[in-house]
Amino acid sequence: MDGKFVNWADAKIHVLTHTLHYGLGAFEGLRCYNTPKGPAIFKLQEHVDRLFDSCHILQIKPTFTPDDIRQAIIDSVKINGLKECYIRPVVYVGYGAMGIYAKGNPINTAIAVWPWGAYLGEAGIKNGIRVKISSFTRHHVNVTMTKSKTCGDYVNSILANREAVSCGYDEALLLDTHGYVAEGSGQNVFIVRKGVLKTSPLTSTLEGITRNSIIQLANDLKMKVQEVNFTRDELYTASEAFFTGTAAEVTPIKEVDERIIGSGRPGPITKKIQKLFFDIVKGRAKAKTYNSWLTYI
Ligand code: PMP
Repeated sequence: MDGKFVNWADAKIHVLTHTLHYGLGAFEGLRCYNTPKGPAIFKLQEHVDRLFDSCHILQIKPTFTPDDIRQAIIDSVKINGLKECYIRPVVYVGYGAMGIYAKGNPINTAIAVWPWGAYLGEAGIKNGIRVKISSFTRHHVNVTMTKSKTCGDYVNSILANREAVSCGYDEALLLDTHGYVAEGSGQNVFIVRKGVLKTSPLTSTLEGITRNSIIQLANDLKMKVQEVNFTRDELYTASEAFFTGTAAEVTPIKEVDERIIGSGRPGPITKKIQKLFFDIVKGRAKAKTYNSWLTYI
């Protein structure tokens, strides 16, 4: 926290911390995987860059440089002796004035690491999950800043996710303000329809680092990839669908709103991409380009 290692139980903040009340803050989520050459963080630099882009958009100025944060992430994994973990850096507006303006409040930074298994469950990764189109709409580009991973934006995600889970589904899928498929509560979405891999464009969706990686993998595999708007009924009639994200990794979608997707099992393209993804993050891929996606601890 703010440049010092603090024991888990002592990692406390004041109840009048500004971000706790109003949500202006930026965070990241990264994963460190156990590889044959030891623990490695996936796309570390991209996550640090996105954190600083978020802060730039939100006009909060971290008291650390990107290099400081990059090194602190590595050190946090190291000092905890974890082989595999999730990593959560957060830059937030600290204790001080309580009005909305609060430009003079301190900007605090923390990084937490902990072991976190498959976000949507091992069975989800293997067999696919059941998804519900949310009654909540995804962000409008001029209401919240969708290129920023802003703390407060996740209220929209929580509402959607809780609604879906309370209806017996595994995850929500939100539509944008025009009614096109946007993204999950914390995942980008891909479909395969008529042999083409499609993902929603970067309007109301977060520019997922996993999404970018999957687009590159699909290009490398000579698949046809399109970043285009598609409708919920295109998704209903897709032959395959899957979510991507740091937490969710590559999770197949087997059902949407009681409609079975394809065969109801992870399809061949999903399985191929998922396998390559896990080979890369776990340091098993041979290609040099993919190895450069890992930062060894
Ligand atoms: N969309 C949202 C809303 C998210 O929170 C996340 C997780 N960061 C993603 C997409 C996926 O992004 P990434 O692949 O960078 O984790």
